[in-house]
Amino acid sequence: MNKRYRKLRIEKRNRLLELAYIDPITGLGNYNAYLARTKEKLEVNSKKTIIILDIDKFKSFNKKYGHMKGNELLKRVGEEIKHAIRKTDIVCRLANDVFGIFLVGEVDVEGITKRLNNKISRIYIGDIWYNLRISMGVYICDKDEKDIQSIIDKAIMAHDSIKGKYHVPYGVFTEEFEQKIIRESEIENIMEEAIKNKEFEVYYQPQISTKTEKIEGAEALVRWKKDGNRISPSEFIPIFEKNYFIIKLDEYVYKKVCENIQEMKKQFKDIPKISVNISKESLLEKDFLEKYMKITEQCGISPNDIEIEITERTTVDNHIDMKEILEEIKEKGFSIAIDDFGTGYSSLNMLEMLPIDMIKIDKSFIDRIGEKNETINLLEIIILISKKLNLKTVAEGVEKREQVEYLKKENCDFIQGYFYAKPLDFDALKNYIKENKKK
Ligand code: C2E
Ligand code: CA
Ligand code: CA
Repeated sequence: MNKRYRKLRIEKRNRLLELAYIDPITGLGNYNAYLARTKEKLEVNSKKTIIILDIDKFKSFNKKYGHMKGNELLKRVGEEIKHAIRKTDIVCRLANDVFGIFLVGEVDVEGITKRLNNKISRIYIGDIWYNLRISMGVYICDKDEKDIQSIIDKAIMAHDSIKGKYHVPYGVFTEEFEQKIIRESEIENIMEEAIKNKEFEVYYQPQISTKTEKIEGAEALVRWKKDGNRISPSEFIPIFEKNYFIIKLDEYVYKKVCENIQEMKKQFKDIPKISVNISKESLLEKDFLEKYMKITEQCGISPNDIEIEITERTTVDNHIDMKEILEEIKEKGFSIAIDDFGTGYSSLNMLEMLPIDMIKIDKSFIDRIGEKNETINLLEIIILISKKLNLKTVAEGVEKREQVEYLKKENCDFIQGYFYAKPLDFDALKNYIKENKKK
């Protein structure tokens, strides 16, 4: 083989290699390069930090300024990252607007993320400054981990954990986080079975009128008993909301509630209104109301017996749709309560706009009764505004006599909390109603 030919062949191979490993837009390594280069480092270094860096709303940037500017932006971001890290570290562009950074040895995570944020949040292209927002997922690995894919996954999970939290520029993958994810997948693996095996049960927590001391309402709260152990709703409800299993569970609970109301109606002349928690995911289902009306009718009861409880957050997330949905629900005869009021940053305007009957004042406000500070005034103001708008109020998580006294004085309408009763199973609820009537 002559020399010239060999040289040509080597050049060609290098070009092919380049194509396979180099990102033409930024000149950085691509995903394949990231895997290959980090693999070498993983063999020799025990401590490493992986950062996944994502440009927020890059799509909009492309749309607004065109692809050429978009490409320039990516190139500039790549350069800035390179300046912010050491020569021995690695940066590659893994996908569209996602960069993978690999830092060896000890790293000041707070410092480096801040540096990256500062450098990239304002980028100079051509002769214009562009303001950007970036978000990062960080995984600090000091174990002997060699599987780069799983290492990347952890950084991505850390990144996912800050989605929607606009003031938090980065998330860190921690052991605790890992445990949570393991637990989540455990729960996901057993949830379908749990419905089939009837492991879910509905409990009821009485709501007592401050005027009459009588039970006027009760909130349905789901309970999950697995092999003798309880799993808390605060743990499984958020998981089910994420994976949409809540749609099934809400319907299951609702059906149980309707059956229980039907039974109570046979036994008592008047029964407390039962409020049922319905998650946003269920409400947004196309055939939600149709399905729930059918269940209601099948049990021979009326929407007047039921209050639909939605969190304040639900109303904030979907302003427009929610108004229509709630109006339809209201038209059928259901009452509507806003749960956890005071925690969801809704506007007062929303209270007037939406067809609401009841405000549930969050426990955090009740806990501060007795403290001498502004919050007490807030509680008074919430009750006052509710009165002005003709809405009823119920205080949640009331545990102490002094809280009851205070709420009576302020004319809160109902009280729900351990002071009167914990959530009760259905038989205990019926007994409670019976005893309460004798008083
Ligand atoms: P939530 O709707 O705010 O329910 C009130 C929670 O406070 C309940 O917790 C209740 O047991 C607890 N609680 C009541 N009184 C007191 C008190 O005096 N002190 C204290 N420390 N706690 C009190 P639980 O049953 O663990 O429910 C947690 C959350 O799970 C509920 O919060 C609700 O958001 C959700 N949830 C429960 N059942 C369902 C359901 O069937 N569907 C949906 N979508 N969510 C549900
Ligand atoms: Ca509730
Ligand atoms: Ca609540």
